[in-house]
Amino acid sequence: MKINDLCNLLFHFVRTRWLLRFRSRAALQAWQQKKIAAFLKQQLPLTPFYRKHKGLTLQDLPVIDKAIALEYFQQMNIANISLEQASALALQSENSRNFSTELDGITVGLSSGTQGPRGVFLTSRQERAKWAGIMIARALPADLLPGLVFGAQAVKIAFFLRANSNLYTTLNSKRIHFKFYDLYKGVDMHLPDLQAQAPAILVAPAHILSRLAELKMQGALAISPQRVISVAEVLEPDDKSRIEAAFGLPVHQLYQCTEGFLAYTCESGVLHLNEEFVHIEPEWLDQEKTRFVPIITDFTRTTQKVIRYRLNDVLRIRDAPCDCGRVSQALAAIEGRCDDILWWRKYGEQELVAVYPDMIRHAITMAASSLPDYRLEQHGDELLMAIQSGQSAMMDALSTAMTELANRLGLQTPVLTSMAYVMGDASSKRRRIRCVTRPEVQAVIEKNAGVIHA
Ligand SMILES: [Zn+2]
Repeated sequence: MKINDLCNLLFHFVRTRWLLRFRSRAALQAWQQKKIAAFLKQQLPLTPFYRKHKGLTLQDLPVIDKAIALEYFQQMNIANISLEQASALALQSENSRNFSTELDGITVGLSSGTQGPRGVFLTSRQERAKWAGIMIARALPADLLPGLVFGAQAVKIAFFLRANSNLYTTLNSKRIHFKFYDLYKGVDMHLPDLQAQAPAILVAPAHILSRLAELKMQGALAISPQRVISVAEVLEPDDKSRIEAAFGLPVHQLYQCTEGFLAYTCESGVLHLNEEFVHIEPEWLDQEKTRFVPIITDFTRTTQKVIRYRLNDVLRIRDAPCDCGRVSQALAAIEGRCDDILWWRKYGEQELVAVYPDMIRHAITMAASSLPDYRLEQHGDELLMAIQSGQSAMMDALSTAMTELANRLGLQTPVLTSMAYVMGDASSKRRRIRCVTRPEVQAVIEKNAGVIHA
């Protein structure tokens, strides 16, 4: 790493870790507004897509989504990189498993999404150093800090993911030993290396952490990390307890996607939005304002613009403030994607009501604590269920949980049908709950039409 990148990294580490503190939420928001105004003033004229919007405030700028971001990819970055160029390079990296290539000094990466077109991100060298500083500040436990600064040995990080990136390897330095474990090769073949590395920080998708926890409990893996971090997937309650039991530590989460670094777990074990770097507008999903879809603006990234970008995720807020003293919004959970929401009918009516994934997870946890891995897929009025072990008693427990949940919510129980359990490979993103198709609401339309005719 070049000396100016290292200085940049250290500056952002210190600033994020100790300096960016606010007395109140109002103070944080006022500061954010100032930063955003300066960011827009400087960046809108430089970015082809936004040039015509210069002078506008954030609220007046268009809300975009993944489809728009991909369609206008070249106009939304200031490196004049086309989507074709970026995708070709990213795919070539994925196929060769060599993630170090760049395009004119810009790192290109692909999202690990499994559905629809994949997101593409661009970061400059300076942005990578800044990101690394912020990430280390958020992820490093306090007891590893003296080791990082004064210790004879580097802090060892094990990172399991579907694809590596220059972004992540920016962390590699004399003080940090970062090792990427390629999930395309599965989990088990990495065990000797993982054991030899003996990482202080273990980072992986939740279902991989769960597998490592299982191996540790069986005595097949003897690592004792000081921090365990779940990324890239919903952290399911059963995995969470298994991981915590095996490693004897609370699981932390980093909510990092193509569009930005959005949330992290604080030292009190609570998820916080990363509002010192990203502005997050909630698009509320319920009247009680407990769940929302985030519309994000990253006012710290300039190469590729992420301005009022509507994500496809559902977040649930935490109703109590966190005792760590941070004033950034605390979250109860990252629930999953918008298309993980199931839609069941109101009892005796046609109207559809949202059944959020965490309601399902809670119902299952309450019904059977020892339920193995499962899948739920809604296809119209039918709910297909699969269980890893295939035992009929387990399937009965799952059916009962779904029926009781429907009763509690005053909804009709969907037609429950079993399907075969298919285990994905280690590199695929696990989604236990999915709405493949919503039920038809034809009858409602007909009823309304009838009213009009009458
Ligand atoms: Zn906190």
